[in-house]
Amino acid sequence: MSVLPIFNTIAVPGATLYLRTDGYQAMTGKPARVDEKVTLIVAKKKLVRKEVASDSFYPIGISGIISEVGSDGFMQVELRNRVNINEVVVYHDHTIDLDITKRLDLEDMDEDEAQKRLRKIKDAIIRFADGKQWSGVVRGYLSRWGTIGEVAAGMSPWMVNSNQERYDVLAEDSVRTRFDMLEKMIYENLQILDVNESAKDAQEEEHRKIYRENAIRRQMEFLQKELDELHPEEMSDLRKLEIKLEESEMNELAKKEGRKVLSRLKAEGQNSAEAGLLMDYMELLTDLPWKKEPMKEISLQRAEEILEEDHFGLEKVKKRIIQQLAVMSLKGAQSGSILLFVGAPGTGKTSIGNSIARALDREYTRVSLGGVRDEADIRGHRRTYIGSMPGRIIDAIHKSGVSNPVIVLDEVDKLAASYNGDPASALLEVLDPEQNANFTDHYLNVPFDLSDVFFVCTANTMDTIPAPLLNRMEVIQFQGYTPIEKKQIAIRHLLPKARKAVGIKEAELEIGEDVIEKIIADYTRESGVRGLKKCLDMICRSAAVEIVMHQEQLTKVTLENLQDFMDRQPLHRKSVPESAKPGIVTGLAWTQVGGEILYIESMFTKGGGKLLITGQLGDVMKESAQIAVSLVKAMYPEKVEMFEKNDLHIHVPDGATPKDGPSAGITLTTALASLLTGQAVSPTFAMTGEVSLRGEVNPIGGLPEKLMAAHRAGVKTVFIPKDNEDDLRDVADEVKAALEIIPVREIREVLCGVGLEN
Ligand code: ADP
Repeated sequence: MSVLPIFNTIAVPGATLYLRTDGYQAMTGKPARVDEKVTLIVAKKKLVRKEVASDSFYPIGISGIISEVGSDGFMQVELRNRVNINEVVVYHDHTIDLDITKRLDLEDMDEDEAQKRLRKIKDAIIRFADGKQWSGVVRGYLSRWGTIGEVAAGMSPWMVNSNQERYDVLAEDSVRTRFDMLEKMIYENLQILDVNESAKDAQEEEHRKIYRENAIRRQMEFLQKELDELHPEEMSDLRKLEIKLEESEMNELAKKEGRKVLSRLKAEGQNSAEAGLLMDYMELLTDLPWKKEPMKEISLQRAEEILEEDHFGLEKVKKRIIQQLAVMSLKGAQSGSILLFVGAPGTGKTSIGNSIARALDREYTRVSLGGVRDEADIRGHRRTYIGSMPGRIIDAIHKSGVSNPVIVLDEVDKLAASYNGDPASALLEVLDPEQNANFTDHYLNVPFDLSDVFFVCTANTMDTIPAPLLNRMEVIQFQGYTPIEKKQIAIRHLLPKARKAVGIKEAELEIGEDVIEKIIADYTRESGVRGLKKCLDMICRSAAVEIVMHQEQLTKVTLENLQDFMDRQPLHRKSVPESAKPGIVTGLAWTQVGGEILYIESMFTKGGGKLLITGQLGDVMKESAQIAVSLVKAMYPEKVEMFEKNDLHIHVPDGATPKDGPSAGITLTTALASLLTGQAVSPTFAMTGEVSLRGEVNPIGGLPEKLMAAHRAGVKTVFIPKDNEDDLRDVADEVKAALEIIPVREIREVLCGVGLEN
């Protein structure tokens, strides 16, 4: 049995109520089912499920049964017995439980009299309807209604009586008195509805006018609907919008706004200057997916398979995604924590968002936020602007057509604040689970619930993401691929895709693994696989020409002819030089496109103790240089005068690329130590670590990328901070195997390690 609060409804034994199924679900928390027993209880004031309390109701209710659930959004409830409500219990999930006993009627009216009087009432209604467009419809209904309860319930929506008055009928035990009451109500309302009714005094007239207007409007709506069903082809655009609006499952605020705009459209005519704008708005409003998509069952196994199918490697990432899906499945939620994928371009961040959508069997849309500086890009322009538009979020929802898409917000690190407001704070509202159920786009001007959207953000770096935004997200690092992984990705994913894109069959193109290795090594320098993908696309395009122009059956790409297929020369490979010079040491840097090796160059020139630093170093890096100078002065006191007699020049190529951060500390110090002692350090030694004035080596970020870069460049030995040892877990085995990795606590260990004896 379910318990359904009602308000402003005439409910008496023997009547049939037509109720909205969505209203039923909203109140009871479950869908309407035929044959379900319901107890209707009358609320003292209009309320929603959350507001229900044990004292919200009158003491007499009525039991009934759901006899029909229509596909038009309405259900039929046949009312049976009145009941005394002895106790109302409201549980914390707002479910209502009742203790009820049947309440007996006082059967003091015989059926003949009832039928006679009912006939009169029906005649009065028919007379009232006579001559009006909809009299046929009314007659149809009346022929079906056999009790006064049914007639009254049917007319109930047009009646002006208060909730209390309607309840009083239900509370009355005497069948005859009940009949009298309903009869009176019906006659009175017919009179109010009757346009010729004369008013007794001015104020009453005003009230009646409002009542009458409301009643007439409701009748018109009802009848118009019937007419539309008969002649769907004659409907005007406005009418179509009106129907769409009324039938849509949008919230009341949105409906109200829609009605307002519609009435303006009607008032101004469709040719007015504003009509286009208003029409656009109405189209969007009615088109938006207001209907909540039901939660789909998540099959973790299937999700795992799909992730595996689409992407090679990325084990940690996939594991984290599966965890998220498991939590969602357990909680029955359509979204969970907001994931932020951080990594170099081409590492698969965006495309794995697409795989998540596929795994969840949900729609996918991508919103690029790169270069967004205007808050209105996220939250829309107010409708007062000419050319105003919704923001990108609502736009994405609109495109996806569902309330629960997977939306990938690309490049959240590229948002920029400007005089047009701060887009990051607008984004905060989008992502914050506390707020996003009521996200209000300026253009839409009514709240839209984003709480079912699965948001995934991507970024190249976390540095530029404002902290409040970052706090709301859960960071997942994409480390970049080793050459071996890249080869696998190329063979399994990129090449088949590239072939397909130009229409080449597998048998028509042969590319050896050695060729792919060469492309990876010589034509690309990246953490991701974007450049590799471009190269393979290029080869396939060239091969297509061979196949079409020269009728080749099989195009073979070999190490020898590879260059013929490419429109670019191999990259100049940045690998460590063979010879060593004092004052030059190999360092490791982390950039947004992955790890890189860099050289710290230092030199003494005749002068008077000046320090010259070039290579576009940021403040932090300049300070590291000064720390390095002080450190070596302290470590080699006997050589301090070198600094006094000379100018010291430190340079970090490439001169045009800005660099910053403390992680070159030990490299700078080593370079100066090498310069001072005149002993060269082999370029196959590389290092990364912050150094303190006491000579301690402190931890740094981006270790996996840096080690990969070292490996690519041919470095043999790498010094890393001892505190970063844990990060080695994230480093690919092949990289670890190829490098000698030496964790250090103090700068002296580095200097000894590279052979600069103190
Ligand atoms: P990002 O968003 O990190 O810049 P993308 O998702 O756009 O990178 O990936 C670029 C291309 O590389 C896509 O075509 C993608 O399918 C492919 N790709 C990246 N990583 C993998 C991988 N691990 N397995 C298969 N394909 C990959």
